[in-house]
Amino acid sequence: MTWKSPFELAGSWYKGNLHTHTRQSDGDATPEEAVAWYGDRGYDFLAITDHQVYTAGGAFATPDLLTIPGVELNGPGYHLLAIGTSDLPDLAAQADAQGCVDAVLAVGGLPFFAHPYWCGQTPEQIAPIKRVTGLEVYNSVCERMDGLGNSSAYWDALLAEGKRMLGLAVDDTHWRHGEVGVGFVMVHAPSLTVEHILAALRAGHFYSSNGPRIQDLRVVHDGDGKPALHISCSPCESITFYGSASYGRRIYPLDGALLDAATWPFRPEQVYLRVECRDAQGRVAWTNPVFLEDL
Ligand SMILES: [Zn+2]
Ligand SMILES: [Zn+2]
Repeated sequence: MTWKSPFELAGSWYKGNLHTHTRQSDGDATPEEAVAWYGDRGYDFLAITDHQVYTAGGAFATPDLLTIPGVELNGPGYHLLAIGTSDLPDLAAQADAQGCVDAVLAVGGLPFFAHPYWCGQTPEQIAPIKRVTGLEVYNSVCERMDGLGNSSAYWDALLAEGKRMLGLAVDDTHWRHGEVGVGFVMVHAPSLTVEHILAALRAGHFYSSNGPRIQDLRVVHDGDGKPALHISCSPCESITFYGSASYGRRIYPLDGALLDAATWPFRPEQVYLRVECRDAQGRVAWTNPVFLEDL
């Protein structure tokens, strides 16, 4: 598999939140109020993911906002975000995380572990589970409530072992903690349809953010033909390349100036590189990983 940057493909970028609760479970807004909030603020799509309650694609949609099928499944020691299923996955499968992942796949969905840091679900517990699409690298409500929203160290531990997982930033909106509008994904797709958004999520053609925009991400080669990862973004105080253990690098001007691009070479010890761009307000954008074996 050769890695393809979404920035090198035809299409457009669409903003969405993939983890939202409503009064269908433990959220304080109705589905109609949820859709209106995001639609009024320039979001393109929303997944309503109530606990154990399935919301179909197109349900509650408005001319301003596409809705993606979703549900959050709550098993012992883990929560699983199921995006794009054709129906409610078999709830009897939740007793075990692998069974739950497979139940989501059986109805055509994308399974992501939700807020693993908050759940106390360790990388060692996640590593053996097969066919999971990814995890939430950032969950706004877990950050607000308990300071446990950032699961990036868990993500790195799994990526360093070669486990292929994509990373989502989400609000996990419950409408009472100030978490709304903080974590989102930018998805690159040929057009704004449920099918195209799901295909782009599956392919990893997205990045996650609390604010900074990523404007390019691509593999470049130096004069000797050695590959490096190049990123450009909205003005940020640091750009950090993460690879296995300490084989990445944080790049920041010593004089405190902002930067909007950086490049870092691939090395075999890294296994992968992913990038975080942090702005002067402390907000972060996260790329998905690029694995060296895909170059
Ligand atoms: Zn949850
Ligand atoms: Zn949730």
